[in-house]
Amino acid sequence: MSSSENSNFVVNTPVPDALERSLRPTSLKDFVGQQKSKERLGVMVQSAIKRDDTLDHVLLSGPPGLGKTTLAHILAHAMNVNIKITSGPALEKAGDLAGLLTSLEKGDILFIDEIHRMNKTIEEYLYPAMEDYRLDIIIDQGPNARSVTLNLPAFTLVGATTRPGMLSAPLRSRFGINNRLEYYDAVELEQIVLRSGHLLKLNMDAEAASVVALRSRGTPRIANNLLRWVRDYTTVKTDGKVSDTVARDALEMLEIDQWGLNEMDKRLLRTLIEKFKGGPVGLNSLATAVAEDPNTIEEVHEPFLIMQGYLQRTQQGRIALPLTYERLGLKPSDGAQNQLL
Ligand code: ADP
Repeated sequence: MSSSENSNFVVNTPVPDALERSLRPTSLKDFVGQQKSKERLGVMVQSAIKRDDTLDHVLLSGPPGLGKTTLAHILAHAMNVNIKITSGPALEKAGDLAGLLTSLEKGDILFIDEIHRMNKTIEEYLYPAMEDYRLDIIIDQGPNARSVTLNLPAFTLVGATTRPGMLSAPLRSRFGINNRLEYYDAVELEQIVLRSGHLLKLNMDAEAASVVALRSRGTPRIANNLLRWVRDYTTVKTDGKVSDTVARDALEMLEIDQWGLNEMDKRLLRTLIEKFKGGPVGLNSLATAVAEDPNTIEEVHEPFLIMQGYLQRTQQGRIALPLTYERLGLKPSDGAQNQLL
């Protein structure tokens, strides 16, 4: 069994670009932050190696870009096994899952991204596979239909989800622990930016790294994307040194403000106040008003805005909090006062 990042991407899943791959830490030691999850996973790996056994199934949850895929690769690397990657929506038929499971070697990792979006029938095939390494498939239809049992090699399922609450109870219970990844703080993000800058061979100081870190919404993927933009800007507009002023100018050009709010965040918050009087407003109405997909709003924009105290989800809908008025330079009278102001 050998570990490989390149050879095992299943069709239907986007192959991460070379940059993302090159910036990905390959060991828990290089993986910044997420102390609790890292320690737990470290113990699981060491125990499996010591017992010469397959790693237990692992569930990773948290908003996009926090390192779930990276951790799955790190686990494969640490266990010295292959990793096959797919996602919940890509598994359309039981045959898709069967094809993947039967191609695994002993100890291999199957990574299912967005596992909460897997269809329920397929999920049921997964239960015996996870518990007893067994796949019961029905072949043929009508009176000829019969169940065939396939024995599978012992494998590890690593499931990733941005919405752990949407996992069915039976599926959740088949994973041992839910490793919840949290947003990164500024110090951790600065470390990630400096590390990525080093890998990209940038001439960058800590102040510049901090400018990028503070605008990254607690998310390493955003930090790396912004850094890539700063590199491009620096290459074209300057002598090649990434200073804090250069980083600030570069990010201003992307319309990302000093609090990390991007154009869509601001449009969303402004619309909430100006069109919906500060709320409460339902997700779908808000999504239509800003011409964005409701799922994207819910999974990409809102977690950060809620965490930072810009808005709140209530039973009646979304409500703008005082910080939104403050940051956008609006007064409650620009909308109607909601009950929280
Ligand atoms: P997710 O699967 O949660 O959406 P990824 O694992 O794809 O997120 O992470 C996105 C990018 O962020 C990766 O390319 C990786 O380089 C970087 N990254 C994520 N977490 C960390 C970390 N803890 N330390 C350093 N880089 C990280």
